[in-house]
Amino acid sequence: MLTGMCPECDALVHFTSMPKTGHRSVCPYCRSRLIVISSNPIMLDWAFAEPIDTTNPNNRRELPNRSR
Ligand SMILES: [Zn+2]
Repeated sequence: MLTGMCPECDALVHFTSMPKTGHRSVCPYCRSRLIVISSNPIMLDWAFAEPIDTTNPNNRRELPNRSR
């Protein structure tokens, strides 16, 4: 089964075909924007519109906007 786990809510995100690394998706449950970081097995991480500033330890991983 082509599924990956949402890093935000741990829900299984289903794919109709094997996604490539870098494929972007949206969690159907929490609406987090996700990106495929590994295709076998499928692993998902949060997708960001802008590169993350890894030089700032306080800004390495921002949580998705939960306002909606
Ligand atoms: Zn989710």
